[in-house]
Amino acid sequence: MSRIICQRILLKLSGEALMSEQGGSIDPDIVQRLAHEVKDLCDAGIQVGLVIGGGNILRGAEKVSAGLNRVTGDQMGMLATVINALAMQDALEYLGQPVRVMTALKINQVCEDYIRRRAVRHLEKGRVTIFAAGTGNPFFTTDTAASLRAIEIDAELMIKATKVKGVYSADPNKDPDAVFYPRLTYDEAIDQRLNVMDATALVLCRENNLPMRVMNIFEPGAVMRLMQGEDIGSLIVR
Ligand code: UDP
Repeated sequence: MSRIICQRILLKLSGEALMSEQGGSIDPDIVQRLAHEVKDLCDAGIQVGLVIGGGNILRGAEKVSAGLNRVTGDQMGMLATVINALAMQDALEYLGQPVRVMTALKINQVCEDYIRRRAVRHLEKGRVTIFAAGTGNPFFTTDTAASLRAIEIDAELMIKATKVKGVYSADPNKDPDAVFYPRLTYDEAIDQRLNVMDATALVLCRENNLPMRVMNIFEPGAVMRLMQGEDIGSLIVR
């Protein structure tokens, strides 16, 4: 087997990645497929931290226009990420993959509290560690939570999963002239307001020199091939 380029990664999935085409918030087949991809990485000896968004269920900011207080909306959004994390935990366990969910909000009967040292221990023992409830604070996103956790656990690479090949100058599904960027810097992503992640997340990665790959997670085996050294998606570096 080829050499693996990273020992520990943080994979960020948006909540929408779990949605069914018919609009159901969690499609068990899709969750199972993604779980398979993650298990393959673990079987190759890669330690995997996972952050899953909550946008398939609820985004706090979108509820403000419906009269909901932003902080309450964001707390609901963070709880939505816990629901997704539990779905993924179940799917991984079904495959026989050891896994733990750790949350930034205390929900002790359901999952463990996030404690960095314990998270690192889980990873060292080969358990997929799912970081739920974002940062635990309103007004942040799970992209920022993913960057934060990746840095905290000393991940060598963060992978931001998308439905397209990587970073483009515009949405390639809407603009046929959109240009694909195989490699760019964090400053370019920030200055050109490329739709990669929110600015807080990008700055956090830049300041801590964390490389990020933006790539299509729905291409079977793609993450594994990336780990074997193939140049897939877009690489963002400082
Ligand atoms: N959220 C939050 N603080 C965090 C992370 C998430 O308040 O640290 C809330 C926020 O309302 C957000 C929602 O949880 O809209 C779901 O997360 P996100 O929008 O990042 O999910 P994704 O777009 O990745 O599915």
